[in-house]
Amino acid sequence: MNNSILEKREHTKIRKNNPLLRTKKTQSISSLYEGRYKILLNNPFNSLNSLNLNRSILRKLIIASTSTIYGSGYLEYLLPTLAGFFEGVSTLLFIPYARPGGITYDAYTQIAAEAFATINIEVLGIHEFENPTEALQEAEAIFTGGGNTFELLNQLYRHDLITELKTVLENGTPYLGTSAGSNICGVSIRNTNDMPVVYPPSFNALETIPFNINAHYLNPVKGSVHMGETRETRIQEFHIYNNTPVLGLREGSWLEVIDKKIILKGTLQARWFQKNQLPKEIASGSEVFCKKEKL
Ligand code: ASP
Repeated sequence: MNNSILEKREHTKIRKNNPLLRTKKTQSISSLYEGRYKILLNNPFNSLNSLNLNRSILRKLIIASTSTIYGSGYLEYLLPTLAGFFEGVSTLLFIPYARPGGITYDAYTQIAAEAFATINIEVLGIHEFENPTEALQEAEAIFTGGGNTFELLNQLYRHDLITELKTVLENGTPYLGTSAGSNICGVSIRNTNDMPVVYPPSFNALETIPFNINAHYLNPVKGSVHMGETRETRIQEFHIYNNTPVLGLREGSWLEVIDKKIILKGTLQARWFQKNQLPKEIASGSEVFCKKEKL
């Protein structure tokens, strides 16, 4: 990371840790939301139909299958979308707990910082804050990166952040999740592809959407001599024991959640699995409808 980004981050850390300079706390809630509405109304992400101006709170999430698609850089395929989605945001809080390949939180935060610098957003790692709960409460926007989903959830429980993260997302803090960071948006993490390298206190996750995510979803490879179960077989096996629907999100696909609306984005279809039903394909651009199942 270049020096100017480092200096800026140091400066923000000092600013964030100084109670006298915490602007959000001294602003009235209504003035904060006034600002947010201005952003919402001028932003293509917000269909006016879904805006209910009597409500001061709108959920706003991007739940992406992956951070990186073949042949391009980290988040590159999503950056034009993110520039609009995070319009008006200057600082983003990064949750690096999934630490892909075991890299350090600092190294992972730098990767995110470099990608977001290209759309003029500064990134701070949650591990850089003395009080991670407060960091969530005061964040302008949040990004949880991919890696090992079990370890990510484990750390969220260990730092007692599940309830707070759920709350700030319900209250409208814009959120980006990629891979593991998307898996935790589901009802549980039981449909991750990851190995359970650690044992979180529970598999229950944020439940910001009423189904589970299987990230990096893969079709069976035609003509393959590989004898392991296909992704589809594993998800059908999950439905022998569980009722929660599962969405197989292919590489380069994402869900855009604006309040109650969940829309599939990207060029590919996604595969929808429900207990006792045949799997079906969902077209890009369609709304994902799902009633909350009895678990
Ligand atoms: N390990 C994946 C990621 O975060 C998550 C998954 O495959 O379930 O990149």
